[in-house]
This record gives sequence, structure tokens and C-alpha cells, in this order.
Amino acid sequence: MRKNIVAGNWKMNKTLQEGLALATELNEALAGETQKCDVVIGVPFIHLASAVAAVDANKVGVAAQNCANKESGAYTGEVSAAMVKSTGAGYIILGHSERREYYGETSAILNDKVALTLANGLTPIYCCGEALDVRNANEQNVYVKNQLEETVFNLSAEDFSKIVIAYEPIWAIGTGVTASTEQAQDMLAFIRTIIAEKFGAVIAENTSILYGGSCNAKNAPELFAQPDIDGGLIGGASLKVADFKAIIDAF
Ligand code: PEP
Repeated sequence: MRKNIVAGNWKMNKTLQEGLALATELNEALAGETQKCDVVIGVPFIHLASAVAAVDANKVGVAAQNCANKESGAYTGEVSAAMVKSTGAGYIILGHSERREYYGETSAILNDKVALTLANGLTPIYCCGEALDVRNANEQNVYVKNQLEETVFNLSAEDFSKIVIAYEPIWAIGTGVTASTEQAQDMLAFIRTIIAEKFGAVIAENTSILYGGSCNAKNAPELFAQPDIDGGLIGGASLKVADFKAIIDAF
């Protein structure tokens, strides 16, 4: 059965001390509670080991926001999937639109990153989603299908069944404009349909597909009540425990 997941994406926010305080506060807020979903925090590389140490692994998973597309070696400034693994983190967010747009991440690069993430026993949270011009032209389904076909649809069924998909329309990220519940549900149902066509109904049913884009405590209950929305990837609202916890509680 697929999991419900609320994953935070801190992006490039918080010093090490601030991040440690945030992770600790979240852990305390969740202590003694029965969670209806998995909770993950996507933190900058420098926070990974501290965040892992600060949280109860049964309550909060820790994700990197990226990894290198190379295994190891002379790649100054890069952090490998194996290094992420060595911190105790369990996930890597890959293919976020900010990385595709500002750091030139192509499908070929992402294929290597996904492969290295899986090879190290980590779970990729693989992002996809269209820009506003694509949505305005009503070509979002073709666009997202193409993003998946060029990347994670090349995986074996066994490997695909280990990944989490996050649909994040670029026009909704950090803008305060959320996709309507209907737009989000329609796209996630579409993604599930094409997963079923490619990998079969069982894998499609078992794949967790998240919505991301200005998700907050107010809109989360309606979004998470949709049959194909298995949770959220949360940017801005993951930076304050009260806001993030309210989204977790939306399940
Ligand atoms: C994100 O960047 O993954 C995201 C969903 O951001 P926000 O929630 O701030 O729109």
C-alpha cells in the first residue's frame, strides 16, 4: 500500500544552528503523536548529519535536496549519493524545478542522479511539473509525461517501485498560487494512469505521488483528501514548525 508523505524542502535556508533548532523543535512537536503520514525534512547538505541526529528516525526521515551525478572523485564542491547515505539520511529530492532551471539539470543528468540514489539504497523524491506557458497552452499532461518518459520511466519496474513522485507546477512554487484541488488531482490521476500503462496497475497503486506548490495548512486538508494525492512537498511552509505540523495534521 502506498504511503502518505509530507516532505519539507528547506531549500537554501537556515544556518546550521537554526536548522538544528528547527529539526529539534519538529521532533518535539511530533513526539508522542500517532502520525497518519510519513514526515521527511529536505535539508541543505551541511545539515544532514545534525538533522539525522536530532530527530527520531521512526518519526522523521531526512532528505538531501540534491546529489552529484558522479560516484566520487575530482568534482570539487559536489556531494555524492554515497556521502548522503553516510549521514544516515534516507531520501534525496531530485529534479526540483529550481535545479533544472538554475543549474541546468537535464534528463540525462537526472538519470545518473536517480541511478546513484537508488544504488545507495536511498529513496529519490523525483520532481516534475510544467511552467505557466505550458499550462496556459493546456499542454501540461504531454509535458509531464515527457519528463517522466525521459527519466524515471527508464527504470526497471523494481527500481521504479522504490521512488516517490512529486508533481510541482512551477507556477505554483513559492508564488502563493496553489493549483486548484481539481488541477492537482487531475494531474496526479494522470500520472498514476501513465505509471499503470508503463509498469502495471499494482505499481501505479503503490506509488506515492505528492503535490507541491504553495501548499499550506489551509489548502492541505482538501488537497490530501483527493484520491490520488498522497501528500505534499512543502517549501516555505516547512520552515516554521507550527505551519509544517498543521500540514502534517491535515491527514
Ligand atoms: C517547493 O519548492 O518544493 C515548494 C513546493 O515550495 P513552496 O511550498 O514554497 O511553493
